[in-house]
Amino acid sequence: FDIYAAPIMSRNDRLTGIALVLHDITELKKLEQVRKDFVANVSHELKTPVTSIKGFSETLLDGAMETAPLREKFLNIIYKESERLQGLIHDLLELSRIEQQYFELNWQPTNVERVIEDVIVILKEKAEEKGISLLLHTQGDSQMEGDPERMKQIVINLVNNAITYTPDGGQIDLFLHGKESAVELLVQDTGVGISEKEIPRIFERFYRVDRARSRNSGGTGLGLAIVKHLVEAHHGSIHVTSKPGEGTCFSLTFPRTQEEEQSV
Ligand code: ADP
Repeated sequence: FDIYAAPIMSRNDRLTGIALVLHDITELKKLEQVRKDFVANVSHELKTPVTSIKGFSETLLDGAMETAPLREKFLNIIYKESERLQGLIHDLLELSRIEQQYFELNWQPTNVERVIEDVIVILKEKAEEKGISLLLHTQGDSQMEGDPERMKQIVINLVNNAITYTPDGGQIDLFLHGKESAVELLVQDTGVGISEKEIPRIFERFYRVDRARSRNSGGTGLGLAIVKHLVEAHHGSIHVTSKPGEGTCFSLTFPRTQEEEQSV
């Protein structure tokens, strides 16, 4: 609490009371902590690949260049780390753009089924490499008011995660259900799952259940934070149910039109 005190004087300068103002700054302190953690996380996440790129280039310049297998190995690491850095910068810029107060969606009639079909084309190869089947089940009409590019970004992030966190040979089912005043999408996988304790945290920026696995798969820890913002910008909602070792299901609901937003 911030406390302010001021005397209350009568006309003849006699003290008649004291005015106390108690200002609850818990929320402010919390926000300040979130900001500090964010800056510390960003610094750490940026430093790691840069240190590695610098170290391996130095080793190459110091003579490792002469040995062909080492040259190839180190250059591959440098390339991978630069890619990770690029992904991180992209996601950071994206998140900061979305979090701006004046961020606006490019509202258009959007066919969610078409959006999902585009995403499947993009991610099919990655799924096939792991022998994962990616299936879309559609029921009803999925036409809604939305931003097709942003909807695509939402689905790419969720399906990409589903592929990453599902072992080889698994299955990902997308259930698209056009209801009367809402469009519902379920992204269900047969992956590693998320424990009940971790579920509320996965939408936080940089939160990862398994840091090493996420890193190795090129994850930045920002994907779900971006997804949550974009779903909310559409006035939709997102929920997760999961069983460790069995799989995870992300369920999303969007109002079909923005007048219907209140009733979803
Ligand atoms: P990342 O880039 O690490 O994937 P995200 O913000 O997309 O970051 O996800 C945050 C964390 O949530 C992941 O690191 C992972 O631990 C967990 N997660 C997300 N999607 C799934 C999923 N389908 N199955 C299991 N865990 C998941």
